[in-house]
Amino acid sequence: MRVIIVGAGLAGLTCAKVLNERGAEAVVFEASDGVGGRVRTDEKDGFLLDRGFQVYFTSYPVSRRHLNDEALDFRVFDPGAVIQRGRERSVLSDPLRDPKALVPSLLSGAANFEDKARIVALAAKVLPGEASSAGEENGEEDSTTLDYLRQSGFSERFIDSFFRPFYGGVLLNRELTTSARVFRFTLRMLAMGSTVVPARGMGEIPRQLASHLPPDAIRLNSPVDALLREGERVVGVWATGEEHEADAVILATDAPTAGKLAGEPVPEDSVGEVCIYYETSGLGGGKKILLNAEEDAFINNAVEVSNVSEHYAPRDRSLVYAVTLAGFNLPDDQLYRRGIEDLSNWYPEATFDPIAIRRIPYGQFAQPPGIHEKLPKNRTATPGLVLAGEYTEDSSINGSMLSGEKAAQEVLGA
Ligand SMILES: Cc1cc2nc3c(=O)[nH]c(=O)nc-3n(C[C@H](O)[C@H](O)[C@H](O)COP(=O)(O)OP(=O)(O)OC[C@H]3O[C@@H](n4cnc5c(N)ncnc54)[C@H](O)[C@@H]3O)c2cc1C
Repeated sequence: MRVIIVGAGLAGLTCAKVLNERGAEAVVFEASDGVGGRVRTDEKDGFLLDRGFQVYFTSYPVSRRHLNDEALDFRVFDPGAVIQRGRERSVLSDPLRDPKALVPSLLSGAANFEDKARIVALAAKVLPGEASSAGEENGEEDSTTLDYLRQSGFSERFIDSFFRPFYGGVLLNRELTTSARVFRFTLRMLAMGSTVVPARGMGEIPRQLASHLPPDAIRLNSPVDALLREGERVVGVWATGEEHEADAVILATDAPTAGKLAGEPVPEDSVGEVCIYYETSGLGGGKKILLNAEEDAFINNAVEVSNVSEHYAPRDRSLVYAVTLAGFNLPDDQLYRRGIEDLSNWYPEATFDPIAIRRIPYGQFAQPPGIHEKLPKNRTATPGLVLAGEYTEDSSINGSMLSGEKAAQEVLGA
């Protein structure tokens, strides 16, 4: 059986890996010059620049089936967060797993005792659960994360100081209008494992997946322009000026491209971020993520990523990722300047030298309440055509890999 997969993101690569393991011939057509889709790492002057600040949760149930953790040499973030409100700094230790941590961080003022007790209770409540947010029902009607947190009794101050910037960073949505199912799934992943990056950058994840495939299975710089149809059936793709035939075609692009190529309804809205990279003289924030609790935050979250893995910066040098959820249309000099304003306010002693900027308007498909019932399935009504991608599950590394796995099983008839 010959299967063409369109897109070498995590969904497409996982799909190709499963098909290859099961003896099918999988050929991946990728529009860009590398594998990984939204999960790639660039190198500049010895600094590793992930395309946007992304992390991996070791508890992701699907991805752990396909990844060799040891080879990825995961480096672990410290749990909790450093919360900045102007010059005021609070260190939130590990509210999810270490009740003892309640005592010292109680002094912080960012969370009161009830908030800490509630978050421990909430983490216990979401265990165990499903393999992705799509299955994460709790018997109640879906709501926004904000409503769910309010119903769970959290104080507005804790919501503003912790949940907004933290989930702003994870779900690229500081307003907390994302589905509470996504929130619960993410909370469970946080509670069950560690938050990590591969020692040599997030791009190592897709590279490892691709390494399971024969060398000629992935065709880079090969955008698919159209699907080939015979009557109702999809029989291949049109790419690089040629027809390529297949027994099945799996569309593993981002949702809008899949929608255009297939004519299938897909989620259209998205959320994104701008990631600003600076060399720094050092923040002293250790391996914790820094969160901006200010109401009019420009930088939402930041991290001295070279503290987490020394490979992210040349020896004796330090790298900061600073993320803003605004400013997509600002010129580079203004982005750099506004980022430095926030960071210097928090760390007046530190220096910040611009390295690069990456604007990512399409970071994740938008996941408002109720979205999961409306997501497309892998199987389409068109014979020979299967969909894969985060948008059939949830926007995450785990969700996209689950979708790739299911798409392969669909084609194999498993
Ligand atoms: C800034 C940011 C932060 C994130 N943070 C996290 C996080 O912390 N943790 C987490 O789990 N997830 C995170 N995510 C989400 C996660 O990265 C995505 O859900 C996942 O990578 C999507 O994979 P995919 O394979 O579905 O799609 P994509 O990665 O978009 O892959 C689609 C591929 O299709 C290719 N393509 C498109 N059109 C064509 C065409 N016509 N022909 C051939 N190829 C084509 C594209 O070039 C691309 O390689 C984040 C995403 C971003 C962008």
